[in-house]
Order: sequence, then C-alpha cells, then structure tokens
Amino acid sequence: MNTSEKKVLWNSNISRRTFIKAGIAGAATVGVISAAGYQGYEFFKTVDVKGRILIIGGGAAGCSMAARLSRRIEHPDITIVDPSDRQFYQPGFTFIAAGIFKPDEVWRPQKDYIPQGVKWVKDVVVALDPVKQVARTSQGETLQYDFLVLCPGIQLNWDKVEGISQKTLGQGNAHCIYDFEGAQKFWPAMQELTTKGGRGVFTDTYTKHKCGGAPKKVCMLTEHMARKKGTRDSLRLDYFCSEKALYDVPYYTPRLLQIYDERNINLSLNCRVTGIDTQAKRVYMERHTTEKQQVWDEATGGMIEQETKTVTPFVEDYDFLSFVPPQSAPDFVKESGLSWTEGKLAKDGWVMVDKETLVHLLYPNIISLGDCAGIPTSKTSAAIRKQLPIAEANLLEIMQGKEPSHKYNGYACCPIVTDYGHVLLCEFDYDKRPDITFPFSIQDMSQERRTAWMLKRYFLKPMYFHAMLKGYM
Ligand SMILES: Cc1cc2nc3c(=O)[nH]c(=O)nc-3n(C[C@H](O)[C@H](O)[C@H](O)COP(=O)(O)OP(=O)(O)OC[C@H]3O[C@@H](n4cnc5c(N)ncnc54)[C@H](O)[C@@H]3O)c2cc1C
Repeated sequence: MNTSEKKVLWNSNISRRTFIKAGIAGAATVGVISAAGYQGYEFFKTVDVKGRILIIGGGAAGCSMAARLSRRIEHPDITIVDPSDRQFYQPGFTFIAAGIFKPDEVWRPQKDYIPQGVKWVKDVVVALDPVKQVARTSQGETLQYDFLVLCPGIQLNWDKVEGISQKTLGQGNAHCIYDFEGAQKFWPAMQELTTKGGRGVFTDTYTKHKCGGAPKKVCMLTEHMARKKGTRDSLRLDYFCSEKALYDVPYYTPRLLQIYDERNINLSLNCRVTGIDTQAKRVYMERHTTEKQQVWDEATGGMIEQETKTVTPFVEDYDFLSFVPPQSAPDFVKESGLSWTEGKLAKDGWVMVDKETLVHLLYPNIISLGDCAGIPTSKTSAAIRKQLPIAEANLLEIMQGKEPSHKYNGYACCPIVTDYGHVLLCEFDYDKRPDITFPFSIQDMSQERRTAWMLKRYFLKPMYFHAMLKGYM
C-alpha cells in the first residue's frame, strides 16, 4: 500500500476505538429501546407456546430469530439448520474490497450465534414439503416441524454469466464483491487500477440482488481512491446499470446521479452482462429497450398501445471489471411450492408471503423473512432488522392460535458509500418514501453525510454481531 492509500485509510480510521465502544453501547441501547418500542412490555415477557420450530438458514435473519424466539418462549423447541461454520457480516465485503476492513474482521464462528438450547443441524436443506411439514437435508436427515421460519437467503447463480465461475473470480481481472474471496481479490486489483490507470468497467445485475447499492459503492470508492492518488485523469470509469434508472427511490436518486455526473463516471442504462472473455478482457452485454407505439387494432377497430422489446448485444473492453451474478431464491425453495406463481416476484422463486405480516399466503404456519422473502423491498440486513420484531411477534401469535396482527412497512436502508468519508444513507418504505431514523432526520439526508459514514464505518458491524444476532434489535 502506498502513502496516499495509507493516508486515505488513516483518515477513515480516526478515533476508531472510541467509535467502536460508543457504537456497541449505542447499539445495545437503541436496540433494546426500539425492540421494546415495537412490542411494548412483551419484549421482556415470555409466552408458553408449544410446537417444534424449524429455522432454515442461520444468517442475519435466522440466527436473530433463534435468539429472539428462545428468549420469548418458556420451553422452546427450536432447530436451526445451516451448513456454514462462519457467520459473515456481508455488508463488510464492500469494505474489504475497498481496503477498509481486513477479511478477518467480517466473520465470527457460527457456533457463537446459536443460542443455548437451540439444536443446530449443520447441513443443507435439499427438499422441503410444506404439506407434510418436513425438510430433508443432504445427508438424508428428515426434520419435522410444526412452525417454519424460512430464511436461507439468496442463491448466487454464477452459471448465468458465461466464461467465469465463483472459483475463477479474479481471472482476467474480473471481480465480484458478492463473494468473500472475491472481495479480497478486488482490493489489490483496485489498487493496481488506481495506480496504473486504464478502463474500469462496473456492472450490476438484472435480477433482484442483495444490497443494490453495493456495486455502485465500489465504483465510487475506486473513483475516489484514484483522485486521492492523483491518478484520476489516467482512468476511464463506466457504470453499466441493468435497470432503466441508476436508483429508483426518488428522494435519493437526483444526488446519486449528480455524483456520477460530477465525477465523470459514464452511465449506461438497461445493460445486462451475459458473459466475460477473461483472456481478451472483454465483457459481453445486452442492451434491453422497450418502445411503446400506437398501432391499429383490428379487433377493437381503434388504436392501442403496443410494446416492442429490443435486445441489442454489444461488447466492451476493460482493464478492470466488477460484475454481479444474477440471483434467485435457493433451488429447494423454488421446488417446494412456496414461491410466488405470478407477478414480478415469481420468476426467481421468492417466497410468497404477505408483505406486511411476512406469513406465507398458503401455509399460515410458515413465516419468511430476509433475502429470500418475496416482498417488494430492498434485500438488506437493515431491512431484516425491522422485519425481525414483526416476524417474531406474528409467529408467537400464530402459535397461540391467533391471527398475526403486526405489520412491516417495507422499511429498508441502503447506506450508499459515495467516497472514503461520506455515505448517502437511503432509508425508505414500501412506497419508496423516505423513512429516516432519528437523529438523521434532523439533517437533509438526500445528500451524502459524514455522520452516516461514521455510522456505517464504526457502528453497524458491532451492532450486527453484538446486538442484532443476539436478538436485542
Ligand atoms: C457485497 C454485499 C454488500 C452488502 N451491503 C449491505 C449494506 O450495506 N447494508 C445492508 O443492510 N445489507 C447489505 N448487504 C445485504 C445483507 O448482507 C443481506 O441482506 C443479509 O445478509 C441477508 O440475510 P439473510 O438471513 O436473508 O441471508 P444470509 O445472511 O445470507 O443467510 C442465509 C443463511 O442460510 C444458509 N443457507 C443457504 N442455503 C441453505 C440451505 N439449503 N439449507 C440450510 N441453510 C442454508 C446460509 O449458509 C446462510 O448462513 C450486502 C450484501 C453483500 C453481499
């Protein structure tokens, strides 16, 4: 690492210890207060309910639910099934890629997050039968349940990008921060690009994906690193977005577009990556456009609107590439009959739950939250933090034979890191209206803020490991 890189990182590290200590204390307090606020005195009250609870997936949603339910239920019978030895703080992958976190800072042993008394089946679920109320694991174990919490997260479909796989990430300088090792390979490559110069091509993907802001963040951090090193003029940066807009939350979009414009990052919309030639350093893409035309309709004898979709393939050369694989619900979920069968959420198998109660629309003994839930909001752990008290309270009501009465408003938060020191903290609800948490609500949060950087840089990781996963927020 050269002097200017060290200086950038040092600047973002000031008062580290103080902030971490304050973060943990703050997180615990805010967590308990907010959780208690959601559920009133019930946060501290146990309930005497019966039934075998199976939690599939022990990530952000699963471990937090296990902690909450085992605290609330007097004699809990909870099984969690997850193959992973490690609990990852995935938002930290972006910071590994940008050289802010060391890889070992973003994970802890999974065993530390399995609450006492909860049975941990260290295996993968391969089949789920909601009629017989049973899940089958890869080693042939059958797990019978009365109530199911379905939260196995997202499946990264590497095979949908030709020419590269999870194992070959980094080859031909093609990188992906959605993978722990991939994020680690990104950082030295980004250092090289911002030292030597060249063309950096940044892309995202056309399916719903975890933290839609993440691919944009690494693009802006690369640009800032080059400016800090004084090499910006030797870099051409392009962002190929798969959607028709860079970001679709109107309160925050104008500033984000302005930043891309001010920093001379070329933006192209409606572009999807289909393959990469890592030898030639070429990325294959398609531009998807839709045109509306008025045409004569024989049947009605009048003019009607007709949509024409056009797909135009094209190729771009790059020196450095950042890409994102298409994503979906895990295969066993898609095959279980629990996914949406119509509408926008059907294609990738997201779980068919009521968007407010998070209860399955056909099977009232199933709750789904987190990335695999078929709800029209962003897939972030910040969203899960707000889903947790709702899912917990509703499951307990269902177990008591009551109707689920708690409602989630779609709150999601995406802290879009705009440079080494600022974050555009996008907080919004199902209607894409800003839903800003105090004390940020006293600032104009349509702009990037230093305070939001402090939150992201110093508070959120300790909050995740010490408060959220322990069931305190
Ligand atoms: C690069 C990146 C940046 C991000 N940035 C942010 C951010 O800034 N802010 C934010 O809030 N969020 C961010 N996120 C998103 C956040 O990490 C996810 O939304 C969150 O982790 C989802 O939680 P989950 O419990 O649904 O899934 P996960 O945390 O992914 O957990 C799923 C668990 O299920 C297990 N599992 C999978 N399949 C099976 C199976 N068949 N059987 C049993 N277990 C199974 C897995 O082993 C895993 O432990 C980011 C994510 C990435 C990758």
